Amino acid sequence: MTATTLPPVVVRMHPADNVAIVANEGGLPAGTRLPDGGPVLVDTVPQGHKVALDDLAEGDAVRRYGVVIGRAARALRAGAWVHERLLHMPEARTLDGLPVATVRSRPSPPLEGYTFEGYRNPDGSVGTRNLLAITQTVQCVAGVVEHAVQRIRAELLPRYPHVDGVVALEHSYGCGVAIDAPDAGIPIRTVRHLSLNPNFGGEVMVVSLGCEKLQPERLLPPGSIPLADSRGAASAGDRAGVGFDLVRLQDGQHVGFQSMVESILATADRHLQRLDARRRETVPASELVVGVQCGGSDAFSGVTANPAVGVATDLLVRAGATVMFSENTEVRDAIDQLTARAATPEVAAAIVRELAWTDAYLARGGVDRSANTTPGNKAGGLSNIVEKAMGSIVKSGGAPIAHVLPPGDKLRREQRGLVFAATPASDFICGTLQMAAGMNLHVFTTGRGTPYGLAAVPVVKVATRTELARRWHDLMDLNAGVIADGQASVEQVGWQLFHLLLETASGRRTWAETWRLHNALTLFNPAPVT
Ligand code: CA
Repeated sequence: MTATTLPPVVVRMHPADNVAIVANEGGLPAGTRLPDGGPVLVDTVPQGHKVALDDLAEGDAVRRYGVVIGRAARALRAGAWVHERLLHMPEARTLDGLPVATVRSRPSPPLEGYTFEGYRNPDGSVGTRNLLAITQTVQCVAGVVEHAVQRIRAELLPRYPHVDGVVALEHSYGCGVAIDAPDAGIPIRTVRHLSLNPNFGGEVMVVSLGCEKLQPERLLPPGSIPLADSRGAASAGDRAGVGFDLVRLQDGQHVGFQSMVESILATADRHLQRLDARRRETVPASELVVGVQCGGSDAFSGVTANPAVGVATDLLVRAGATVMFSENTEVRDAIDQLTARAATPEVAAAIVRELAWTDAYLARGGVDRSANTTPGNKAGGLSNIVEKAMGSIVKSGGAPIAHVLPPGDKLRREQRGLVFAATPASDFICGTLQMAAGMNLHVFTTGRGTPYGLAAVPVVKVATRTELARRWHDLMDLNAGVIADGQASVEQVGWQLFHLLLETASGRRTWAETWRLHNALTLFNPAPVT
């Protein structure tokens, strides 16, 4: 159907808003009368773009989500297309005098009785997949490991039907870096915590080169691996009392490439035997650790998909689960909402600490948070980072923010509820850091469309528009565009997502898993390289 066959539909997010979003596929032509006594369009307005609902004088505040997203660059008539060149962006709010833990909403009743089928790990965490991971200390070994992984898939995995796959934790770090720089702690602990993701069953095997800066004992110092109890599977010799098996390519025992590969296969085989003995069991929904993210956003992200994710986030938190939201530059302009929603003054202080760090990091590079927006965001109707941020933050729902996690850190078991995991907004870096934090399930919303995926954690992708869900029918797992089409409410799609997450956690494949689509693990290294 085209815009001319459907009645005009605009979406206003807040009663105080003086702009609304055109929802019709193909946009609306000039001369269209907007519904509910709205103005007649002065310009042709593309889908997802803003239309002025009132006359605006130059310098007037333009409000969306009840928040000032900019000031009119010149006088605009009601019915005008308000695009990014007509908006002056407001300054970022200073980090002083923020409201602290002021939101005292009544706690929502717990949601009981929801479960999924997961893999219980020795440390008490739960996996949604049963994967063998091969940790690497340095990029130098990546080619050898990849060769070994192909042979593991072809020769070993057929013998272990209860193992879902093998994942090489390839990364670009490990040598040629200023490893003692203060910020080097971020990439190092990220690699450490990636290897401890709950989807790897507590099995850690490491491939090292030998001469690299990031030595295995620095990557995984004693005590960093929560050792299992009585499993007693590996001999003390194998795991050398440190909780992981190590293959070092430069060791004298390796004569030629083939012998390195044989060492990796032999080690992998022992781990696969243990992984293959595991079975899914019924566990409460509270064992989910969900990371939410958006990428390739358009103006519908903040109207359909992200609000539906917000509903699912609230449901998960009520069920006792953990939900992480992230993307520092996309929450910066909503920092007063976040500090107000902090459960305690300490949590509010930690939010300010992380975002002040990001401000300084960006300033060091000569930019600010406005460096975030992309050409696709703007073509999709998002004028600036303030507007994008207001649409991004709704993924976090309405629960109090219970914890703040610095980049690369791993959540402790007792850190439940809604968590602000401070990360850059880059899809790959954010996903990698949420995975290091212990994520066992990932939700990703997109408006422009992205085939994003991770090898080790299922990614449920939610489309913001029906047109995208139709066109990318074998990539999008859920269509939130039905909200803009008037066919379902935000609450209904939120519940639908909640159920889909429980099914996915229990083993239902996502489209990205079906096609084996996954992006590279991408470390956040703010420290110098040498
Ligand atoms: Ca993102």
